[in-house]
Amino acid sequence: MSTETKAVPDEPAKPELEPTKIFKCRDAACRAWVREEFATEQQVCPICGGPMLRSIRHLPAIPGVKKKRKAPVKRK
Ligand SMILES: [Zn+2]
Repeated sequence: MSTETKAVPDEPAKPELEPTKIFKCRDAACRAWVREEFATEQQVCPICGGPMLRSIRHLPAIPGVKKKRKAPVKRK
């Protein structure tokens, strides 16, 4: 069992990273990658035009783009 570190209250400046599905270029020398949500089924590398592989990358959560959650009720 691995002990996962949960939110550290002492580091508020650190953005929360969440595992995000991405496609990355198969060429290790090419660092291109795209989020899966922006990729097409036959996604090719936008830089070298080569094939891309599915991968997971820990990316900071985009503020405002929450996972399928109800939008907060606007108060007035
Ligand atoms: Zn590439």
